[in-house]
Amino acid sequence: MKSIFKENKNVFLWDYQTLHQLEEKHGSSYYVLDTGKLKDNYRKMNHAFQSRYENFIIGYSYKTNYLPYLCKELSKLGAYAEVVSRLEYDLAIRIGENPKKIIFNGPLKSKEDIFLALENASIVNLDSMYEIEYVREYAQNHRHKDISVGVRLNFDLSENGMSILQDGYEVSRFGICVENGDLNIAISELKREKNIRIIGLHGHFSTRNRTVESYLRKTERLCHLAKEYINETLEFIDIGGGIYGELPNSFQLDAPSFDDYAEVICSVMNKEFPDQNHRPILILEPGVAMVANVMSFVSKVIEVKSIKHHQFVLVDGSVHNIKPTMHRNNLPMKVITGKERKRDDHHYHVVGYTCMEKDYLAYNLFGEMPDKGDYLIFENVGAYTIVFNPPFIKERPGILVLEKNEILVAREKETFKQFFNEELYSF
Ligand SMILES: *Cc1c(COP(=O)(O)O)cnc(C)c1O
Repeated sequence: MKSIFKENKNVFLWDYQTLHQLEEKHGSSYYVLDTGKLKDNYRKMNHAFQSRYENFIIGYSYKTNYLPYLCKELSKLGAYAEVVSRLEYDLAIRIGENPKKIIFNGPLKSKEDIFLALENASIVNLDSMYEIEYVREYAQNHRHKDISVGVRLNFDLSENGMSILQDGYEVSRFGICVENGDLNIAISELKREKNIRIIGLHGHFSTRNRTVESYLRKTERLCHLAKEYINETLEFIDIGGGIYGELPNSFQLDAPSFDDYAEVICSVMNKEFPDQNHRPILILEPGVAMVANVMSFVSKVIEVKSIKHHQFVLVDGSVHNIKPTMHRNNLPMKVITGKERKRDDHHYHVVGYTCMEKDYLAYNLFGEMPDKGDYLIFENVGAYTIVFNPPFIKERPGILVLEKNEILVAREKETFKQFFNEELYSF
């Protein structure tokens, strides 16, 4: 196959013939992972923070996209694994992650999960009181061992009495509440065991606008509480994820850059911990910002039809493949056409294979209409897509990787037998 890369660069150069060839092997719809972009994101983010505050770690949020190949790439770059379930924890182990570089978060951890993570000396952030009982039990059973844990905090981040949380929730349901005194109780419970040390505080909030200002207040609050409650044992401040990555122009949003976030967050850290020799590790847990722009979805045009004055472009893909949350923004889209011809500009919609009326991959686009046999490439589909499985009505498409001038397969196209796994289903 001829090269689809610009000379010596990991940059897409799709053409119709390449896509046609790929279709024979991988079907007419599949994802493509661009590892060059992934490395770029990691390095830019890491540099923005580390150049301002040296003691810095990225914990990649697995749930955003736990494609094993991608998780492994990030691990190789130096990222820790931020996991929120035993499934994700086991995946991190499976790809060879050092257990000490796994951050185990999430609201639901079983006793076995907690015991395993403590046994492995992973970083565990406790989310509720019931988890504290498990940790104490483990500590009682292992008196000779020093046990370290972090605590996820829940505190008020509202601005002038207005919630800044996603979907307008008044309070977040995660973490241990500072305001009602639960944090006090949690800490004294943990301190009942002499071999438990609380080494870090964690604060992750999903906010509506992901503003720099909210990170300023969150980081300050975490630092102040850390100094107040765990000054002697403090090793890390974990500010969670939720920052913006590089957004497509079509979103028309003037998002803060990695440098904007880093400037504010690191200033707080440097101010709160002026002693060079006693600086806690700063942990950031990016999901969307790390992976949204590293995957594209290729889908072939099967039919173009008009219904009254509407033009529908039907593709071999679904909105579920590219935005399972069905948000309203049209993703950036490229049309790769086989035939050179002049086409008229039209308003048109791109719709998918499912039987749902709302299966619009793109709504009300304007421009040259794609034609039967063309390929559409939707960009920015790396976050919260493949993790919402299984897709509806059809098997999962494959995932290809652009890596060092070759194309690898990170996930094969699913078959009937894999979808209806006979070890799971009775027929
Ligand atoms: C989901 C999640 C993240 C990542 O959030 P993004 O908005 O994708 O950056 C980080 N930390 C925790 C605890 C999470 O649940």
